[in-house]
Amino acid sequence: MNKTKKILILGGGQAAAYAAKEIRLIDKNSDITIISDEKYLPYEKPPLSKDYVLDKVTFDDLLFFSENFYKENNIKFKGSTKITKVDFDNKKISCSLNTYQYDRLLIATGCSNRHLKINGEIILPEENIIYLRSFEESNNLKNKINKANNITIIGGGFIGLEIASSALQKGKNVTILEKGEQLMGRVIPKQIANLILEKHESEGAKINLNTQIENIKKHNKTFKIYLNTNQVLTSDLIIIGVGSIPNTDIFNNTSLKVDNGIITDEFSATSIEDVYAAGDVSNFYHPFYKEHMRLESFKHAQNHGINAGKNIAGLQNSYNAIPWMWSDQFNLNLQLTGICNDYDSVAQRGSSLEEGIIYFFLKNRKIIGACGLGVGGKIGRDIRLAGKLSEKKTKVTNQLLSDKKNKLNKI
Ligand SMILES: Cc1cc2nc3c(=O)[nH]c(=O)nc-3n(C[C@H](O)[C@H](O)[C@H](O)COP(=O)(O)OP(=O)(O)OC[C@H]3O[C@@H](n4cnc5c(N)ncnc54)[C@H](O)[C@@H]3O)c2cc1C
Repeated sequence: MNKTKKILILGGGQAAAYAAKEIRLIDKNSDITIISDEKYLPYEKPPLSKDYVLDKVTFDDLLFFSENFYKENNIKFKGSTKITKVDFDNKKISCSLNTYQYDRLLIATGCSNRHLKINGEIILPEENIIYLRSFEESNNLKNKINKANNITIIGGGFIGLEIASSALQKGKNVTILEKGEQLMGRVIPKQIANLILEKHESEGAKINLNTQIENIKKHNKTFKIYLNTNQVLTSDLIIIGVGSIPNTDIFNNTSLKVDNGIITDEFSATSIEDVYAAGDVSNFYHPFYKEHMRLESFKHAQNHGINAGKNIAGLQNSYNAIPWMWSDQFNLNLQLTGICNDYDSVAQRGSSLEEGIIYFFLKNRKIIGACGLGVGGKIGRDIRLAGKLSEKKTKVTNQLLSDKKNKLNKI
């Protein structure tokens, strides 16, 4: 009789949940176990900085799948279990109390928050200094924002700006400190970053670009924040969002190939046989762009988890989804598809946020990326079509894209 195949999924987030679902769809017999250091079943993270803080959703709304789904599909979930040791030679992973054997392993450990450093000193979370990644941190964040008056947000990236938007909607005084010369620096084109900046300022945010923090001192319950511009801010709550680091520490002394995340091929396979990686933690080879990349986005975590699931279950399935992500701030929706660098021309479509503004980035007359901002769902359709045109490598002109009379689905 064939032995039941043991599949372990290390990490219990989005990539893990979708991988488990996919494996079970293809393979009805294997033993599937998700091991997570969190006590909760896999849940969505995007609302943690927005709708959950604004009381628009409850925790139950965040679950990808109900408890029943895991029972019906015979997917075991071991929560509150932090894996600290990995033995690839003997196909074992361990926490302080138990060891788990696997035939195939998926690593989906996501990212942790990068800690802010000031003059070499690491600023750790404490009572009124908050970092956000998990549901528990979001709960704490919400309670603290509700009680605070003057909030300083360090880091003008997505998470910082989304929290700023939530706090401003709650009537708080918000200051954003960003060391770069634009908001959302690394991934978003300047044109869109400037529109976001104007929106935050019009809603009352004070935004300091090109700003470094020289010191933070606590006086009773308030903080004094000393800036390189000689300004001193007073704040009762500090929220820090200065990027993230893939969770790969436990593999440090193993032969697993790690370089800004776990290196995987287009089939989600790592450098070690029977070991796969997916989601935020994976630096994967993208056959369309012919390069490795690491993405931190909802849609990618889902699709990449599904892809890993297919390959673990025995299919040979290449991952080549065009990157796509979004952010919601106030009534505005931002979306990005493809990659918006290394372009030779830019086309603008739309001129007001009410109708939506999209910038298309072209190289050799082909769209390589597009980024848009607009009220509600105004830009979604054109961004999706831009992704399709990019995937098909369709030749376009700037004029064709700029004129809203030309429907993108007719190109
Ligand atoms: C606040 C916030 C807002 C976001 N908003 C957006 C958005 O608007 N749009 C968008 O596209 N994307 C957004 N994202 C990004 C998106 O949520 C992530 O890309 C996605 O959750 C990644 O999924 P993952 O499965 O790779 O990792 P995660 O969902 O982070 O799951 C990893 C899991 O592994 C666990 N783990 C790690 N190490 C161990 C260990 N040693 N032992 C056991 N368990 C371990 C972690 O605790 C965690 O539960 C947001 C993320 C955050 C944090």
